[in-house]
Amino acid sequence: MKLLDGVILKKKILEELASECKTLFKNYNMAPGLAVVLVGDNPASQAYVAMKQKACESIGMVSFEHRLDASISQDDLMACIKELNQDDRVHGILLQLPLPDHLDSDTMLQLIDPKKDVDGFHPENVGKLLVGLPTFKSCTPFGVITLMAYYQIDPTGKHVVIIGRSNIVGKPLAAMLMQKDRIGNATVTVCHSRSQNLEEIASQADILIAAIGKPHFVTSNMVKEGAVVIDVGINRVDDAKSTKGYKLVGDVDYEGVFSKVNAITPVPGGVGPLTIAMLMSNTLQSFKHFIND
Ligand code: NAP
Repeated sequence: MKLLDGVILKKKILEELASECKTLFKNYNMAPGLAVVLVGDNPASQAYVAMKQKACESIGMVSFEHRLDASISQDDLMACIKELNQDDRVHGILLQLPLPDHLDSDTMLQLIDPKKDVDGFHPENVGKLLVGLPTFKSCTPFGVITLMAYYQIDPTGKHVVIIGRSNIVGKPLAAMLMQKDRIGNATVTVCHSRSQNLEEIASQADILIAAIGKPHFVTSNMVKEGAVVIDVGINRVDDAKSTKGYKLVGDVDYEGVFSKVNAITPVPGGVGPLTIAMLMSNTLQSFKHFIND
């Protein structure tokens, strides 16, 4: 059984990015800049933003923090994004989701300059991804395929079942894995809450990917013997033993499926760390476009 360790891979990717940032700084006297916009004080969002900023600074990128009050108006948030679009020190813009209910995420994401859309959520970039043009790949699915490449999990001709069809994970991941690409050429099935016979479909998967948001949803009976299981889920569950009062678990019953699988990602420490690494990678890519334009 192979443990697909995202922590080791994140470290390797960040080291490579740091070395590239150093060379670029020597040549251009400029560092890639990532603006992080956080609206409100959602504790999970605050923690994610802090991790992204820390990663940024650790590899020689500049992080611009915009912490905005939860009551900010739609117009003021739009003004903030437009300003960042114009700022030449900023090569990537990350709008931390979810936004408070009175703000429309789609409008805001569409306002981000596609050239600075390092999260890969702008419809222009999503469209490019679908037709196989070079673009920013959204970070979590990009992390999944990077992990597969690193551990030499070739999806060519394999049946990949993805449970979850969100715009940030399931849909872009399906698009990536069905491409005529090095880590692609899979036969992809996407399941969701209206899918019937989920257990039957999931248990046919050579590679099963869970992106549901429900702790331990995928149980042993849904997993084929020898399958590769990739758990994107990150869920907080109560844990009296932890000082925080909770622990993080995935969408897969890790202990329950462990003896059956060929390879599996742990939670935490699997896909999660790579999301940040791929965000940094996209920001560097954007910076390189900027200096070559
Ligand atoms: P989401 O937007 O809530 O989407 C969840 C998907 O799961 C939906 O497509 C939903 O179907 C499907 N689903 C829910 N209940 C189901 C059921 N009983 N049977 C089959 N499908 C079901 O969530 P998300 O943003 O994609 O995130 C999914 C998980 O990944 C969460 O735990 C999140 O925290 C985690 N995540 C991790 C990272 C990372 O860095 N590792 C990044 C992003 C997300 P419908 O479409 O029919 O509602």
